[in-house]
Amino acid sequence: MTLEAQKETRGFQTEAKQLLHLMIHSLYSNKEIFIRELVSNASDAADKLRFAALSQSNLYESDPELKIRIDFDATAKTLTIADNGIGMNRDEAVEHLGTIAKSGTAQFLKDMSGDEQKDSQLIGQFGVGFYSSFIVADHVEVFSRRAGDSASEGVHWECTGEAEFSVESVEKADRGTKIVLHLKDDALEYADAFRLRSLIKKYSDHISLPVEMLKEAAPAVPGAEGEEETTAETAAPEYEAVNAATAMWTRPRADVSDEEYKEFYKHVSHDFADPLKWSHNRVEGKLDYTSLLYLPAKAPYDMYNREASRGLKLYVQRTFIMDDAEQFLPLYLRFIKGVVDSNDLSLNVSREILQKDPNIDAMRSALTKRVLDMLGKLAKNADAYAPFWKEFGQVIKEGPAEDFGNKEKIAKLLRFSTTFNNSEVQSESLTGYVERMKEGQDKIYYVAAENYNTAKNSPHLEVFRKKGLEVLLLTERVDEWLMGHLQDFDGKQLQDVGKGALDFGELDSDEEKKEQETAAKSNEDLVARVKKVLADKVQDVRVTTRLTDSPACVVVGDDDMGAQMRRILEQAGQAMPDSKPIFELNPAHPLVVKLDQESDEDRFGDLAAVLLDQANLAEGGHLEDPAGYVQRLNKLLLELSH
Ligand code: ADP
Repeated sequence: MTLEAQKETRGFQTEAKQLLHLMIHSLYSNKEIFIRELVSNASDAADKLRFAALSQSNLYESDPELKIRIDFDATAKTLTIADNGIGMNRDEAVEHLGTIAKSGTAQFLKDMSGDEQKDSQLIGQFGVGFYSSFIVADHVEVFSRRAGDSASEGVHWECTGEAEFSVESVEKADRGTKIVLHLKDDALEYADAFRLRSLIKKYSDHISLPVEMLKEAAPAVPGAEGEEETTAETAAPEYEAVNAATAMWTRPRADVSDEEYKEFYKHVSHDFADPLKWSHNRVEGKLDYTSLLYLPAKAPYDMYNREASRGLKLYVQRTFIMDDAEQFLPLYLRFIKGVVDSNDLSLNVSREILQKDPNIDAMRSALTKRVLDMLGKLAKNADAYAPFWKEFGQVIKEGPAEDFGNKEKIAKLLRFSTTFNNSEVQSESLTGYVERMKEGQDKIYYVAAENYNTAKNSPHLEVFRKKGLEVLLLTERVDEWLMGHLQDFDGKQLQDVGKGALDFGELDSDEEKKEQETAAKSNEDLVARVKKVLADKVQDVRVTTRLTDSPACVVVGDDDMGAQMRRILEQAGQAMPDSKPIFELNPAHPLVVKLDQESDEDRFGDLAAVLLDQANLAEGGHLEDPAGYVQRLNKLLLELSH
């Protein structure tokens, strides 16, 4: 025996150990899914072999018929799942079965709450894979040999605890992977032909590979000759396929049941939960392809992780080519799962080729449209759409910037909080807003703030309340950026209420316009005085048309960046060009009246500065000199009590 072949014991990677532990302790209420996971892995292994054999046909050895076999032994308490797919060599077994290579795993494990119910859902979103073996088995053995390697290069991987596994080199004549599960006492129900057959039907009917089990023995015929029994004993056992074994997406829609669609989704997505919706289409003509696109119910744990895998499973003429083909959908639809099977692409297509092929662009446009249509349909039912929006709304908001061509379609999918119903739940559409617009209103108004309450209570909304105009309440980081790219909807400009001079056009009566002019005129002195004392803090001071109840507010210039966007970028450490706000005063407010009457220049300066700081605070802004604000305010309060 060479040193290489010797048995070696290794520890699991920390993350793998944690995942294993979770698997054992959180999923016992949904044990049977291990079948789906292991059959899914075996099917992937067959896909990989088929793909590798395109350029190396000898990999089939003398065994070209790919299949999965499931056996059990109730006495020995074992369940065996064997495939003749690509297999693993010793190093691969150590790497693939002892570590988890997914990006964001550590973060995912950190998010585990310890609440089994919640955790088991999260694990579902993460995908459990091979470790699901440990839900039903406390001792797992894997025998594998990589296609093309010699029989002596097999590997035997074994794990009996939660901390360690062992590997040794063994002879394995047939290529592929065999997993032997030594069932726990509470999982012996799986060592049963009837149970297994129904699980395979349930979870693996859509797998294009036959999943075989021993042919069921025909019932004994009374009075049959003894000789026949002897022949039956020596003959090789006969297997039969238990599942339908055709690539599901090739079947006509009418022939596929909802259950089958759902199970296939779980296979391609490694998700536990049912999908929300799907769209299955065959396209013929200049391009010839089939697509099956799924809308998941829950966002994956790593949706905002840049390195997270995304994209569709690509097949060419039913041969698996690659996972995570990103080229078929834009980034803002990265949560879509599914399959695309092309009849035009070459079997040796690579990621590089996909990036350059103009046909892929055409497919990408068509698939994007399919998804947007599917979402448009879902959006017609507010109750069905609400959970989707909650999970994926933020990602959809990236759309208008990335996909300008579909801007209008995406805009219809957006949902916001608004002053119409004053609900924190983002449930109102731009279409609805436009329908509610007042006679003479030509803009869609929005306010952006750090959170819902700040937005709702922003002083900027005062005049809109007075006039009965609806304002969108934007509270997510992506919102202002979205508005910047959207710019208009249905021919109506989107207007930040905290930006520039408000022009209500026809909405202001002649009388109101006159009043505003008079107010501006009669307060010219006050404005000039304030401008002087706050010269280094503001770019301009003027009489407001925005406020009814508050004494003052700050506004950004027409061409300046929105205040909330600025705060976000500053927090992210970006250097911002110096830009001072415009300070607006409400001369009808008693504090401003008092300010106007103040003859002591020091006190005037203090009060003006306090009003400016308060205006900033009311918008959720941060003060440059909070201690100075407190001192000035306290000074004024003390004077008040004299
Ligand atoms: P995932 O399938 O999500 O990658 P798993 O834990 O299920 O995670 O499997 C880890 C890796 O182990 C797989 O990516 C694959 O490389 C390898 N593997 C698992 N099962 C098989 C199998 N039956 N044949 C060949 N390789 C396998």
